[in-house]
Parts: sequence; structure tokens; C-alpha cells
Amino acid sequence: MIFRGFQSRLILLFVAVLALLQLTTLIAVRLAGERRLDDEVPRQLSQANEVFDERLQSQRRELGNFVRVLASEFAFREALALGDQPTIESALANHQGRVSADAAYLLELDGSVTASTVDSPGSTTSFPFPELLNGASGEPGTSALVTFEGSPHQVVVVPVLAPNPIYYVASLFAVDDEVLSVVPLQTSWDATIWSGDLTSATKTASSIPPDELPTLLDRVSAVPYGEIVDLQETPFLAMRRLLDTGDGSEISLLLVRSITDVRSSQRQLEWSIFLLSMLALAFALLAAVAVARGVSRPLLELSHAAGRIERGDYARPIEVSGGEEIRRLTTAFNSMKEGIASREQQIRFQATHDELTRLPNRAHLLDQLASHIANARRLDRVAIMIMLDINRFKEINDTLGHQTGDLLLREIGGRLENLLGEDHTVARLGGDEFAVAFVGDASDEWDVVPRRIQQAFDEPFELEGAMVEVTASQGVAIFPKDGDDEETIMMRADIAMYQAKRNHEPFVLYHPGQDQHSLRRLAMVSQLRTAIAGDELQLFYQPKMRIADRSIVGVEALVRWQHPVHGMLPPGEFIPIAEQSGNISAITRWVLARAIRDIASLSERVSLPKGVAVNLSALDFFDDNLVGLISHHLEEHGLPPALLTLEITESAIMQDPPRSIRTLERLAELGVVLAIDDYGTGYSSLSNLTRLPAHELKIDRSFVMHLSDGPSQDHVVVRSTVDLGHAMGMEVVAEGVEDEEIIEVLASFGCDLAQGYAIARPIPLAELLPYLERPKATAQ
Ligand code: C2E
Ligand code: CA
Ligand code: CA
Repeated sequence: MIFRGFQSRLILLFVAVLALLQLTTLIAVRLAGERRLDDEVPRQLSQANEVFDERLQSQRRELGNFVRVLASEFAFREALALGDQPTIESALANHQGRVSADAAYLLELDGSVTASTVDSPGSTTSFPFPELLNGASGEPGTSALVTFEGSPHQVVVVPVLAPNPIYYVASLFAVDDEVLSVVPLQTSWDATIWSGDLTSATKTASSIPPDELPTLLDRVSAVPYGEIVDLQETPFLAMRRLLDTGDGSEISLLLVRSITDVRSSQRQLEWSIFLLSMLALAFALLAAVAVARGVSRPLLELSHAAGRIERGDYARPIEVSGGEEIRRLTTAFNSMKEGIASREQQIRFQATHDELTRLPNRAHLLDQLASHIANARRLDRVAIMIMLDINRFKEINDTLGHQTGDLLLREIGGRLENLLGEDHTVARLGGDEFAVAFVGDASDEWDVVPRRIQQAFDEPFELEGAMVEVTASQGVAIFPKDGDDEETIMMRADIAMYQAKRNHEPFVLYHPGQDQHSLRRLAMVSQLRTAIAGDELQLFYQPKMRIADRSIVGVEALVRWQHPVHGMLPPGEFIPIAEQSGNISAITRWVLARAIRDIASLSERVSLPKGVAVNLSALDFFDDNLVGLISHHLEEHGLPPALLTLEITESAIMQDPPRSIRTLERLAELGVVLAIDDYGTGYSSLSNLTRLPAHELKIDRSFVMHLSDGPSQDHVVVRSTVDLGHAMGMEVVAEGVEDEEIIEVLASFGCDLAQGYAIARPIPLAELLPYLERPKATAQ
């Protein structure tokens, strides 16, 4: 916008200057034209006068010659000597006719007329211009301009010599149109001549055509003598001059000149200058536009280029054509752009790459993985992520030194990059962890790349002369199978990688459930062993109440882990880990021993008819020593078997029903009470249930907790479960009893026992005795 304004301003300036220039030229031409007219007119005028005067002179000379011929003619002189009147008269007439004179006279020396060709009366008696005779006695005679018969004439008087003058011969010639015609021929002026006052002049002679003359003369009366006058309303200049006459009469010469031609040629000149100006202006306009463009376009382009740089587009080179300055500016711009671009690239590279191997770092890998996932989604393919960890890298680092360790990491990075194509992202995540991400065809071909990577590691690495054997563990996770975002995929590849490490496998594909092997859990596994041995486990006891009389009849032992770092952990956090890592039996043994010991000592002080309940997990059924162990502990602490309840979940039994039933039967034989825990959450069939030697049915807390919310499906389930348990000869326990109202509902259903926060929370042994010893009123 700025440049457009700049452009038009430049053009305007250009054109304005030129227009001004043209205008001044035009004015100058006009003034010059006027001045030329003013200068030239007088000069031309005097020239016209000269031509006119010269014409008169030549006419006189000519006439003089003719008259002298007559005066010296022998026959004429003889007739004069003889006084032969008729011959004299005919000679005069001949002369007149021959030279086309207007009149001819033969005069006595005193001026009286001897003979004449003039018929008019009076003229025959006297010569009209006697004063001329005085100067005519000499040889050439005399001549003058005179008014004769009302119009300008030339008169020539010549003496007849014998040898003294005896007579005069005078001849008169009209100054007529023909005489004047020489003036316009030689000058640009016209001549008009008349005698006396113009208005009363009978005859005018003129070089102007007779039809134009009257209109012109109409305007002349006011013209003063000797001045150049611009005739009003006509393109004429005029000058009137009084001529010298021989008879004292008034004879005027009017010289007129049309200035139409001068004016029109001036106009023509001006017009063509104007046209040329316009043409020049048009050219100037074009030139101005071109120049303005030439100046502003490079600036505009540079400003566009600057805009592009601002937006971070460094790819396009800046190309601006223009003069030397523009070229230099462009070069400066380009080098500035390249400077910015390379610095930015450097910064970006540092932010997204690992300094040691120059491979993409974790952040960059996540970005790349995200785009691989997007591509896979679009192309209906899969995105594969491989997490790779160098085995025993720490050892290599410790024995060969950090520098060698760094060298190895670089070598590994290089080897991976060479092995895999451009479309595979190879990254270093830090330490000895690498990652590869790419778009694959199908998830069942997941092991192709891990296999190739494994082969690449078969070749030993040469590190400063030493050949080092290196292996790697790879974990693979696949989009969309194992998650639909890059974070999840990366996490799961990580989990699979740990699995591979633990199992000493070169590569492992993630499968659901492996999450439990995540780092924290892995750490927990090893910590659990020391926890069991190091007394970090604790038992809490939760009372069970007989609904009918509201007495506390027993407690359930619930384990906790007082973790040195994570604090008190609920069983849900470590029991599954213990089960998976094969540590559960150690826990069960510890709980059994502790619970039996605690309750045995407790039973000496308070009555607890149902004793203590201990939870078993599915894996405990595979512990062949379990039954022996229990009886050993019971005997050791003198606790009657009926005071020990074992809680088993339906799902635990269902893992291997025959085996579970065998174990349960042996336990039942022992005399311990068997309870089916979390009833309602599994899929146990009634037939399975009837085959179990169970004595107690614990309805899962999810059915119980909301009983106080009013009649619902839960009511139906709980009521029918109570009925079912009773029908099979079992006592029914409701767990998750969170308020007093639930107890009332349960009572109405005929449920036997209740357990839950409404009665008591799980509490440590130290608090249990005071709780049980309270006056009965509070228990109620
Ligand atoms: P469970 O056998 O169903 O144990 C009862 C759980 O319900 C306990 O959670 C207890 O704190 C909680 N509970 C008690 N009253 C209420 C109540 O009114 N409302 C609610 N919402 N919850 C109540 P805890 O102690 O976290 O134990 C969780 C599970 O861990 C137990 O469920 C049991 O399956 C398992 N477990 C606990 N101790 C052991 C053990 O020593 N060995 C084995 N194998 N499993 C154990
Ligand atoms: Ca239980
Ligand atoms: Ca339960």
C-alpha cells in the first residue's frame, strides 16, 4: 500500500514537472511569435514603401524616356518650326497612344497650351501644373506625382531644345492598379493609393482585388498617418502615408497586410508544439510509471521477502532485479536471511537432536511418531515403535571408559541409521536407549525390523582397536493395536523392552498386561521380597458383626505394606504384583502366621467365636504345603481350626476348579471355615458352588454399598443371595456396609453377618483389643 502511494506520487511529480515545462515552452513560443510580428512588421513595411517608391521612380524614368524621344523627333520638331498645327496634334496623339499616357501637352515656355490630347474644355487653354515648368528647362526635364482629374498621376515635363528650350512637352500617366501590383508581388503588403479625402476620392488604385477593397477601406478612414494600426475585427495591419506631390495636392498611400497567415502559422506552430507536448507527456507518463515501478517494485519485493522471513519461510531465495543499490540490498537481505535461517536451524537442531549421536531426541521422536501414526491412520497401515536398550552398557562404560562408551553410542546410532531407510526415524532417548519408529504394512510383520537390528548387532563393534560384542533388548509396540497415541505407544514399547531384558530375549512385542511390569512395578517386585523379610508388611483387622445381636464375632485380616518410599500401600497396589512375580505365597504365609498368632493371643482376652479370616489368592492353591503349614500354625498357637476362616474368591477357584476343590476339601477336613469371597463378581455356576465345601458366602460390597438408596436390582440380588446361601447351609456375610440403614435392610433380608465402615474400618491389632473390650452398649 505504502509503495503504491509512493509509486503514484512519483508518477504525479514526474508528470507535473513535465506539464509545467511544456506550458512554459508554449507560453515562450507564443510570446516569441508576438515579438517576431512586432519586430518584423516595421521592417517589412519600410521594404514595402521602398518597393512602391522604386516603382514610381521607374515609371517616371520610363515615361521620361518616351517623352524625350518625342521632343527630339525630327518630324515633330519640323512641324513645330513650321507651326504645322495638325501634324503637331497628331504627333501628340500618336505619342499618347504609343505610351498609353493619359494626356499629353505641348506648351509654350510661359506655360500656355499650344496643343493637347485633352478634350475637356479649359484644359486645352491652360496646363494644370504650371509650377513644374520652372524646373523643367534643363535637359532631362522634370517629373512629379500629381492629382489629375481627381486621381494620382505621374507627370513628366521635358523641354524641346534648339538648343535653348523652345517648347515643353508634358505627359501624364495614371498610377493605376497595374502600377501598384508590383508591391504585393515583392512584399507581403498591398498598396492602395488615392487623392484627397478618402470619402470623397473619386478613384482609388489598389493591388487589392476590387471586391475586397470597399470593406477594407471602410475601416481605414480612422488610420492616422505614419502609424501601424491593427484594423479592428480584421486580421489586418495598416499604415497610411502622405506622399510628396508636385502640385501640392494630397495623395495617400495605404499599405495593408493580412496577418491571418502570420497568426495562423503561429497557431499552427503552437498547436504542433501542444501535440508534441501531449505526446511527450504520454511518454513521460509511461516512463514515470516504469521508473516508479523500477524504484518501488524492488522495495515492495524486499518487503514481501522480509515478511516471508518473519513467517519463518527461508526456503525461497530473494530475487529482486534493479540497480546497483537494489542488487546490494538484495545480497544483504539474502545473507541476512541465510544467517537467520542457519542460526534458527542450529537452534532447532539442538532442541530436537541429541548432541552426541546427532540423532533426533525424545521430543523429536514423539513428534515423528505422532506423524507416523497420522500417516498410518490415513493409509490404513500400522505405526511401529521399537524401543532399544543396550545390554550391559554400564559394564562397557565402566571397563572401557566413558569416551569409549560415547564412541560406542555413536557407532550404534550410525549403524542403525545405515541399516534403516529415510522413512525410519532413528532416535536416541538418552543413556543407552535408542528408538526406531516407522510406518509398517501389517502388525504381524512387526518382527522384521527388530530381526534386522539384531543381525546388525551380531557384528562386533570396533572401539579404538578393541572388538566389543554388544547385544540389545528391543521392545515393540504397534499403533493401533497397542494404543492410539504416541505417548501410549512409546510407554508400551518401553514395557515390552523391559520384558525382553528380563526374559533375555532379543525382542518382545508388547501384549496387554505387561503394563504391570512397568518400572515401578518391577522395582516393587524386588522390594517385596525384602519387605516380607524386613517386617514392612502390617496386618489390619476389620471386625465382622452378627446382625441379630450386633455382637462382633470375628475379624478379617487385611494386609498393608508400609513402603519406605511410597508410604502405606493398600493390597490392591502390590498383591497383583506379588501374584505375577510369584511372591504371593510368601505373603500368604506371612499373613497366616501373623493372623493366627495375633488372634490366638487375642482369644485369651476376648471371646471371638468366628476368629480371624485370611484371604487366599488363586496361586495359593498351587502351594502343596499350604494345608500342612496352616495346621502347623494352628497347632503352634493352640488355635482351634474353627477360629480360622479362609476367604477364597470365585475367580480364584475357577482358574483350576478340580485342584481348588481338592485343596478346599483338605482344608475343610482340617476343620477351618471356608468362605466364598466377592460373591457375585465372578461367573461361578450354581453347580460349582454346590460342590464346594464352603461354609460362608460373602456378598461383594458392590451389591451392598447402595442398599440404602432404596429398592433396586441390588435388593433382589442380595435378598436372593441370602436365601441361596441359607438354602445351601451357609452363613451369609454382607461386606461394604457403609451405614446403619444398610444394616436394617440386611436384617430384613435375614442376612447373618455384616462387615464395613459402618461397623468399623480395618484397624491395627493395637486398636483392636480396646475396640472389642468396649462396653456392649456402644457396639450396639
Ligand atoms: P476384600 O477381601 O474384599 O477385603 C475387603 C476390602 O473392602 C478391604 O480393602 C476393606 O478395607 C474394604 N472395605 C471394608 N469395609 C468397607 C466399606 O464399608 N466400604 C468399602 N468401600 N470398602 C470396605 P483392602 O484392605 O484394600 O483390601 C482389598 C483387597 O485386597 C481385599 O478385598 C482382598 O481381596 C485383598 N487382600 C487384602 N489382604 C490380603 C491378603 O492378606 N492376602 C490376599 N491374598 N489378599 C488380600
Ligand atoms: Ca476378603
Ligand atoms: Ca471381599
